[in-house]
Amino acid sequence: GSQQVDQEVPSVCPFCGVGCQITYKVRDNRIVGVDGRDGPANHGRLCVKGRFGFDYAHHPQRLTKPLIRRPGVSKDPNSLLLPGRARVGAGAGQEGAPAIGDVFREATWEEALDFAAGRLKALRGTHGPKSLAGFGSAKGTNEEAYLFQKLVRTGFGSNNVDHCTRLCHASSVAALLEGVGSGAVSNPVADVAQAELVIVIGSNPTANHPVAATWMKNAARQGTRIVLADPRITELGRHAWRTLQFKPDTDVALLNAMIHTLIEEGLADREFIAQRASNFEALKESVAGFAPEAMEAVCGVPAGRIREVARAFASAKSAMILWGMGVSQHVHGTDNARCLIALCTVAGQIGKPGSGLHPLRGQNNVQGASDAGLIPMMFPNYQRVGSPEAHAWFQDFWGARLDPQPGYTVVEILHQALAPDTDPHKVRGMYVMGENPAMSDPDLNHAREALAALEHLVVQDIFMTETAWLADVVLPATAWPEKTGTVTNTDRMVQLGRQAIDAPGDAKPDLWLIQQIAGRMGLNWHYEGGHAGVAAVYEEMRQAMHGAIAGISWQRLEREGSVTYPCLSEDDPGQPIVFTERFPTPDGRVRLVPAQLVAADERPDGEFPLVLITGRQLEHWHTGSMTRRSAVLDAIEPVATASVNGRELERLGLAAGQPVRLQSRRGELTCHLRRDDGTPDGAVFMPFAYSEAAANLLTNAALDPFGKIPEFKYCAVRISA
Ligand code: SF4
Repeated sequence: GSQQVDQEVPSVCPFCGVGCQITYKVRDNRIVGVDGRDGPANHGRLCVKGRFGFDYAHHPQRLTKPLIRRPGVSKDPNSLLLPGRARVGAGAGQEGAPAIGDVFREATWEEALDFAAGRLKALRGTHGPKSLAGFGSAKGTNEEAYLFQKLVRTGFGSNNVDHCTRLCHASSVAALLEGVGSGAVSNPVADVAQAELVIVIGSNPTANHPVAATWMKNAARQGTRIVLADPRITELGRHAWRTLQFKPDTDVALLNAMIHTLIEEGLADREFIAQRASNFEALKESVAGFAPEAMEAVCGVPAGRIREVARAFASAKSAMILWGMGVSQHVHGTDNARCLIALCTVAGQIGKPGSGLHPLRGQNNVQGASDAGLIPMMFPNYQRVGSPEAHAWFQDFWGARLDPQPGYTVVEILHQALAPDTDPHKVRGMYVMGENPAMSDPDLNHAREALAALEHLVVQDIFMTETAWLADVVLPATAWPEKTGTVTNTDRMVQLGRQAIDAPGDAKPDLWLIQQIAGRMGLNWHYEGGHAGVAAVYEEMRQAMHGAIAGISWQRLEREGSVTYPCLSEDDPGQPIVFTERFPTPDGRVRLVPAQLVAADERPDGEFPLVLITGRQLEHWHTGSMTRRSAVLDAIEPVATASVNGRELERLGLAAGQPVRLQSRRGELTCHLRRDDGTPDGAVFMPFAYSEAAANLLTNAALDPFGKIPEFKYCAVRISA
């Protein structure tokens, strides 16, 4: 607008994986506005989060001093996580809650860092490397992710390092690595414009990838047929050619029925399968029993409709599949993704423009953090910890002895924190950088108990998160606009964000903090400070990534702002579409993996008759620590709600707007009821952003055996007035 600004700084939106490029408008070291820039993923467009979700950076609750827990103040998760305390929004009351000063005292950096690292080191000395673990963050930069996993592997001495990808697309990645040899997308979102048909499954892009959703809607207007397949019919349904409202938990039934149709009706792409796939006979045999007519009763979609969509998918000149957490967050999440890979392959819809597989990444840097090695079973660029060659290469590259065994995953690490004292792999000390497991993990009563049980918890963040309340030492860090670094979006675009403002008080850059901990744990690192240090870490990561980003130098990023990998040399423009010639599997072919029906871990019954589906909403981001401190976003969605459809309201004898109690076998909460007729019968949908009504108190920690992802999309609950 007409507001005077001192500076306009190019950066990237800090919220979702679409990776919209933005301009921070800065006056007097404050962000006063955000504009969309002409980036490759957004062409100037922004959603409400990107445009209005910036004032969290200036919120009075920002942490500005290192904090150390006062001696004798207990870590009872129930007394610290009072509902009133957690109400963080504008003008919120904090009644009944402890003040930060009651629990923590301010410390100097020297004291806080010595204490943070000293006790980690002591635990390592007494109990061995496996007694320590670290959670990095998909909200940090690639450089932070890379350095953090290097610290855990070379300094802590184990591979107990993970981040929220475990809660998001770990199952998709497991299926993709097994099937096509790469965990990233085959085609960018923008390819929807070239597709004749697009299946969007288990995803609500209007809320969670809003600018990506606008490309889908634009494509629909140009004639692309959108198929929305989801137990919840969300806003994109208005733009869809067909909606497939399958029953929660029946993805495999629906998808196998589609594959069955292609094979039975002679629509399979025989040439593509013969040349580029393996294991087709096993798949064919496996789907033989999945005729749409047999699956109709299982998944609730009429057989004729399943056949119609399958035919249209196969006969389209090009067709693509995009999916979200509705696919991945099940105990059969990997099987769901295997079916998507098989469907694409059998139809020959991969390896060309407007086709392929696109797991929509949630966090702004979940792709990059995973690429950088922030996962327990893989070094950077998915080189397996268990591979002797990879192990030897990284030992040499980092000049350190490395544990040859994969580490524990997110949910397993918290489980290990509650292991008996005699367990040699009991986790006793943790370093958590920018993650909030006390809100994001399943079965929160258990997760919080585990965090509270740690002998030493170091939390590095920008706010006193629910996790930070359970810490022994809290390190105030920098928010995204306060630092320079790279992030990688859902389309595999590596993008550069530049520092726009200074950090408040004594808050420090995450990259500096990781190095301070590393130095105190005996690592002899020599990265420079400031931007030169960021660039140096990036360049080291580029080497560790073995080719994938070989052509993306720091200088090139400074010049171009965004480059897509694979990018093999400085004159490679980047490859937005992959698998055109071969798949990066050992034999160059897609490996088809059949999937059978596996039921959800906890089914509804007389006592808990409804299915709880958790997720997100447009205005609030994940655990809410940023967006609930953004005035505009908090004003639009100020309170926690749970949605059911009109028929369910009637059955329950309850009215929209009234406060209700939601209970599962693991916990309970109170929130307000909302009517949403897109929610299926027998189900309730709830976002997990509200700490005063944390949906994850109710969820089930049962894991998919391959991706180790918890079943956030299905557990049994009841609602009462
Ligand atoms: Fe930010 Fe995603 Fe919205 Fe773009 S679509 S502005 S990246 S939250």
